[in-house]
Amino acid sequence: MVQYCVAYGCKNLHGKGGSIHFHSFPFKRPEILQLWLTAIRRDNWTPSRTSRLCSEHFKETDYLNRPGDSKKILKFDAVVKNTVNEVK
Ligand SMILES: [Zn+2]
Repeated sequence: MVQYCVAYGCKNLHGKGGSIHFHSFPFKRPEILQLWLTAIRRDNWTPSRTSRLCSEHFKETDYLNRPGDSKKILKFDAVVKNTVNEVK
């Protein structure tokens, strides 16, 4: 199954370049979920369990740094950067 980023204007697909990570939405944290939804600017849209947002919308500091573990883990309160409107 091809994973793609749901952010408005973002064309990232899973596997492209290999440096992009995909994150599911924080359904267990409604306040954070709302911030994500505001940032990706998609009207009348509800994320599903399979919806993913790519790592380009997060800052490096939003990831937990776990030595010896190459898997990127988002901090629970990571907030999407407001970069979506900069996409050409
Ligand atoms: Zn994206």
